Amino acid sequence: MSTIFSAKSYDFTSYVDAQNYINGQWVSAQNSDTMDVINPRHAQTMAKVVMSGAKDVASAVEAAKAALPGWQEMPIRERGEVMYKLRQLMHENIEELTWLISHENGKTYAESKAEVLKAIECAEYGCSLPNLAAAPQLEVSRGVDCRIVYESVGIVAGVTPFNFPLMVPLWMLPQALVGGNAFILKPSEQVPLSCIRLAEMLKEAGLPDGIFNIINGGQEAVEALCDNEDIGALAFVGSTRVAKIVYGRAAQTGKRVLCLGGAKNHLIVVPDADLELTAQNVTASYTGCAGQRCMAASVMVAVGEVDHIVDAIAQHSKQIELGKDLGAIVNQASVERITRYINEAESQGAKILVDGRGQGDEHGYWVGPTLIDHVKGDMPAAKEEIFGPVLSIVRVNNLDEAIELENSSAYGNASSVYTTSGDVARKVMNQVSAGMCGVNIGVPVPREPFGFGGWNDSKFGHGNITGWDGYRFWTRPRKISSKWALQKDTTWMS
Ligand code: NAD
Repeated sequence: MSTIFSAKSYDFTSYVDAQNYINGQWVSAQNSDTMDVINPRHAQTMAKVVMSGAKDVASAVEAAKAALPGWQEMPIRERGEVMYKLRQLMHENIEELTWLISHENGKTYAESKAEVLKAIECAEYGCSLPNLAAAPQLEVSRGVDCRIVYESVGIVAGVTPFNFPLMVPLWMLPQALVGGNAFILKPSEQVPLSCIRLAEMLKEAGLPDGIFNIINGGQEAVEALCDNEDIGALAFVGSTRVAKIVYGRAAQTGKRVLCLGGAKNHLIVVPDADLELTAQNVTASYTGCAGQRCMAASVMVAVGEVDHIVDAIAQHSKQIELGKDLGAIVNQASVERITRYINEAESQGAKILVDGRGQGDEHGYWVGPTLIDHVKGDMPAAKEEIFGPVLSIVRVNNLDEAIELENSSAYGNASSVYTTSGDVARKVMNQVSAGMCGVNIGVPVPREPFGFGGWNDSKFGHGNITGWDGYRFWTRPRKISSKWALQKDTTWMS
């Protein structure tokens, strides 16, 4: 059975079933439940995924436990080698990975390729860790040296969402693996296929069996990971509803936990904003990945007279070709949820400037770009995560009102301002309650080496998931104080 994904276009292509990956082998789950993995562009089943439970998690933990000592003993430079090789393998297989992501998730070829490139960037951060992880040492007292060593946590786990099947696992793996841990990944059951190739590439890159394991499934598998006492740390990326549950449940066993949740990102647009830059950038932010990304613009806060910019955004939105420039929605339930928000806003008096409802061919799950003007701040379309290619425009009179509206959101992932005034940009950057902010940038992802993470209900736990914070999350600092000779003039500290 070949696991090479053969697609070279959007044409429907089936793939192997997603089993569990334990100790370097593909194995079935202990019960026979499966779920269909559906290509959203065709609404057609391309594979099945096993739905695991606590016994499968226990098997993965046993494999990790057995493999861990050998991996922990390796110097960090040798562990880092795996990331260099993984990076090379991902580059060599970039077309295959791109099509695999596109088919299981529904995003376009260009968006899928960008995802692989961003995943590679995360692997590159892993390559740099052997140099970054040199920790301080100081003679803290006469004849007494204190130094820090970053030790692995041990067996750790990651739970990931549907919208970035490859990149989000790569937010976690480089730091966790180079840090000396054994990892158990629970991918989204909607998109478990890219990780099949990831597991194989990690093996080819030299990762010992048992150091990376995949448990496929849904809620039951996640609950088993949360409850397992041998797992010392767990990171989660997904909706706020589930992030809160996982954060509370995993902490019950004393794990360290970091859970990234949903978002409702605001873009503040003031009259002096550059027309073309703003129109293009706002459109790209709300329609990219069909709005199914936690950094997507969801609310545009229009300050004062910006009708010319709204008109230009509408023009750009109308030029977007469904299927070519804008990918599919992940499933039918999401199409219905997105449509419900648009219908509701319309019935509450908002004006639909560009209407994406009922578009696309009848096969597949589609919603076109949708621009809704005169949304009021208290409407669900202005407050709740829609997670589709929909931009709600809320009109306000001045910058203070705009900042107040942004800060009334329960979320705090991203926030941007469009302006040519340094003073306006500075005020917004100082006052909005969001962890990742942009000036004239609609998707202000802090690229490597900066850490990715929001505030408020967009994140539960401390620190960021990527960058140096990620390394700190998956490691524990041991402080070692040493003295090698009796000092003549010792003090109370030595
Ligand atoms: P989701 O919360 O439904 O699922 C995420 C993961 O949790 C999946 O692996 C799923 O199997 C598991 N899960 C689902 N229900 C569960 C339950 N009751 N108990 C335990 N585990 C459960 O999220 P999704 O729909 O896959 O992804 C979209 C969401 O993820 C959006 O809200 C988006 O904003 C968010 N997201 C956030 C970030 C971020 O960095 N903040 C990044 C990507 C996606």
